[in-house]
Amino acid sequence: ANLKMEEIVSLCKRRGIIFPSSEIYNGFAGFFDYGPLGAELKRNVKDAFWKNFVHNREDVVGIDSSIIHNPITWQSSGHLDGFSDPMVDCRETKLRYRADQLFCSPVVLEECGSTVGFVCVLEANDEDMVKEATSQAKKLLKEKEMKGSAIKAFQFRDLTQVTEEEMAQIPSPGSNKPTLTMPRDFNLMFQTNVGAMQDASSVAYLRPETAQGIFINYKNVVGSSRVKIPFGIAQIGKAFRNEITPRNFIFRSREFEQMEIEYFIPPGDEEWKPYHEKWIADSRAFLEQVGLKDELMGYDVHEGDGLAHYARACTDITFKFPFGVQELMGIAARGDFDLKSHSEGSGKVLDYFDEETKEKFIPHVIEPSLGVDRLILALICSAYAEDEINGEKRSYLSFHPSIAPVKVAVLPLVKNKEPLVEAARDLFDKLSKRWNVQWDQTGAIGRRYRRADEVGVPFCVTVDFETIEDNAGVTIRDRDSTDQVRIPIDEVIPYLSKMIDG
Ligand code: ATP
Repeated sequence: ANLKMEEIVSLCKRRGIIFPSSEIYNGFAGFFDYGPLGAELKRNVKDAFWKNFVHNREDVVGIDSSIIHNPITWQSSGHLDGFSDPMVDCRETKLRYRADQLFCSPVVLEECGSTVGFVCVLEANDEDMVKEATSQAKKLLKEKEMKGSAIKAFQFRDLTQVTEEEMAQIPSPGSNKPTLTMPRDFNLMFQTNVGAMQDASSVAYLRPETAQGIFINYKNVVGSSRVKIPFGIAQIGKAFRNEITPRNFIFRSREFEQMEIEYFIPPGDEEWKPYHEKWIADSRAFLEQVGLKDELMGYDVHEGDGLAHYARACTDITFKFPFGVQELMGIAARGDFDLKSHSEGSGKVLDYFDEETKEKFIPHVIEPSLGVDRLILALICSAYAEDEINGEKRSYLSFHPSIAPVKVAVLPLVKNKEPLVEAARDLFDKLSKRWNVQWDQTGAIGRRYRRADEVGVPFCVTVDFETIEDNAGVTIRDRDSTDQVRIPIDEVIPYLSKMIDG
């Protein structure tokens, strides 16, 4: 319940799940690297998505488009004009903040260094949040020995809506000058140049979402793969956003991966509703299936101002992260906005011919969109657990076996008895052909169990004296219950296979 982000970040680093990017050069804000265990976890998450939404369904196919598209794509999609966040500058420190997200006071304090101390609270009418922010900020100031900084809590609905007079009240200690500029739009797309010329004509963009790669391939897929409405096209891949304030570890980074589907449906004012409902339910079921705790998830239904102008509806599936309830996945009903825009932009007909009704139409679309990294963070937070075994504290990750980076650890009870080690090796080799398996022969058996638990290995197979002396099989220990069963060596693979692959 009191899970702290620092614990997650430290566990991830210590055990080779996620590292800050370019760490030997002091890191690079908003970028992360996946270590040996993290790379496995990520593959498993993407495989689970693909299996569930592409392979297990007849109505969805997958693509893998380029990251850099013809830049006209972003003109048509609206990203060049509209993909921006409101930004404010701190006049003192020259640091920049996303105006609609300037809520996490301690972070602001930290980034502002030793001279500036202020607290801005996003939600109005929430005294608790003001109190909490103030006390956290005070604590942080003390820890950092930032003497003399002023602490003040403000209640602002949203800095994009704050007036100049209000803005001027945000003080910078030591002077009475206003600290923050008024918000202005900042486009989040990363620019690059394609080709040897570096002028306006060579400007291109790293995609800020994978979805547009699907729309611009709509015609190719329809023309080549016998799909019939309703059908979906899925894509998993990198996306890049020059986030003004990347934060909360891999929750909001500048380079991340998305898993997106465009599900094409018949047009109409009402037709999309059951499809939208079904995609929300299917998405939620998937998230549960990979192991997210039901009680940590929720829904956020966008309405009015929260909805893009072309969208019919958007429902987020939220997750209770240690830093608050936040969007994990979005499921939007986007009408025919995208295909229409690309049809206008390209001059190509992007419609669908219904063989049965002999009708031609531009399909509407439902878009489920999920961040790989954000899901990984949710999975780690959801799986993190602590208990006590024989009076000793233990922390473990209760990953679902399908996504656990290591499925089985093979442990020879002792390392100096040859037949025992050999029998364990033999089993290890067999298991390795099927799963990612770990060999661990160092230290007391209890410590080895703890080590495996900490990174969420669901099963430990121990080869002991009884295995070789009495032909009594091996023990298999369950991570969560720590219960052990003893089974014949021949039955290890069928047993684990049932537990891991279902
Ligand atoms: P926000 O408003 O919080 O910046 P968004 O609503 O623009 O996010 P979408 O464009 O809906 O986000 O992105 C779809 C999904 O991609 C999100 O639900 C999230 O899982 C993931 N995602 C988006 N931006 C990031 C990011 N900077 N880092 C990691 N994942 C992200």
